Amino acid sequence: MANIIDGKALSAAIKDEVRSEVASAEAKYGRKPCLCVIIVGENPASQVYVRNKVKAAAYTGMESMLIELPASTSQEELLGRLRELNEDPCVDGILVQLPLPDHIDEEKVIDTIAPEKDVDGFHAANVAGLWLGKDCVVPCTPAGIMRLIDSTGISLSGKNAVVVGRSNIVGKPVAKLLLDRNATVTIAHSRTADLAAVTRLADVLVVAVGRAGLITGDMVKPGAVVIDVGMNRNAEGKLCGDVDFESCEKTASWITPVPGGVGPMTIAMLMKNTLHCFRNREK
Ligand code: NDP
Repeated sequence: MANIIDGKALSAAIKDEVRSEVASAEAKYGRKPCLCVIIVGENPASQVYVRNKVKAAAYTGMESMLIELPASTSQEELLGRLRELNEDPCVDGILVQLPLPDHIDEEKVIDTIAPEKDVDGFHAANVAGLWLGKDCVVPCTPAGIMRLIDSTGISLSGKNAVVVGRSNIVGKPVAKLLLDRNATVTIAHSRTADLAAVTRLADVLVVAVGRAGLITGDMVKPGAVVIDVGMNRNAEGKLCGDVDFESCEKTASWITPVPGGVGPMTIAMLMKNTLHCFRNREK
């Protein structure tokens, strides 16, 4: 039976760490880091996410601002708000909750956020920084995944890591972070010919697809570390991952649950990123 990687406990420890760093940052610089979260429209899942982000900021002692805009907000209005926040010396981090209403171009929005305030790490300048190995903001979910893997004490050097999913926000950046740790990385996706044959080679398997139960125990190498990024609702409306937990925990050595794995880590790393942006701006 696999050991459970407790993302909830680890994220709580990281938030406590940030909380004490915020207190010393305030003593040193005379102000607290400030995170600004913007939501456009009334997507219920997004509303829960932004509330949790603001709550976490409050817990760490940071300042936070929640800007709630109606779904009818035009792209120009949103870009105008972002330009104001970019110029606002009191704001260290800006996060626009995705997805945005269809009439707004997400890429334009991301590219309008000042890279030094882009706490999601989605701006092209931060993406380039990640791939070129420069100081940058690392996207929260991939950064959280690395902390979860590290918490197992397993070294990644020379290991086979397989990432299922190649999105810009999870799959690709986590593959780069694994590569930086000298893992031999394979990225699988919807056109991968024989997914099970690929996943069975993984010493570390990261699954970020959005399909409940895609990975079953027979697709996991005995002793593998399995990180489940997926967030899906099953027929009963219950939150579940991409990994069939019951069958995979029999084969894996370490596994993340859903909920309580990657999800809370994303928020903890957002707090870390806000602090990182604050420090860089104060330098
Ligand atoms: P995307 O939809 O952007 O990407 C999904 C990826 O999965 C694509 O690369 C796609 O391949 C691949 N894929 C789809 N079907 C298959 C298949 N049958 N076999 C192999 N690969 C497949 O999703 P995201 O990366 O944004 O998110 C993935 C999941 O992670 C979602 O459930 C999301 O909710 C969750 N998530 C959770 C977060 C957290 O904090 N816990 C944060 C972010 C995401 P192709 O490129 O070929 O289409």
